Amino acid sequence: MPLYDYKCHHCDNQFEARHGFNDDAPPCPRCDSTDVQRLILSAPTVAGGMLTHPGDGQNASKEQLQDKWSEETPKLRKKLVDKLGEDTVRKYAPTLGSE
Ligand SMILES: [Zn+2]
Repeated sequence: MPLYDYKCHHCDNQFEARHGFNDDAPPCPRCDSTDVQRLILSAPTVAGGMLTHPGDGQNASKEQLQDKWSEETPKLRKKLVDKLGEDTVRKYAPTLGSE
């Protein structure tokens, strides 16, 4: 069972209690008050939740992105043409250009 830290609002006593997650808070061992608050002392801090890895897309230069784009665009266009037909692609995706 997990160990919890509590603080008593009545007498300011801080104490630890071990009990099940869904159990009610135990009364203060000093004054028997049930006006206690669970303290979150050891919870791990989630710092931002996101880790950035250097060189993982973040640092790609504009040139690299453009290279990638000009490499991918014809492939994408061809895929669309295969699927939808030349006319449809020309009509709906003129920015993809034609070869
Ligand atoms: Zn107390």
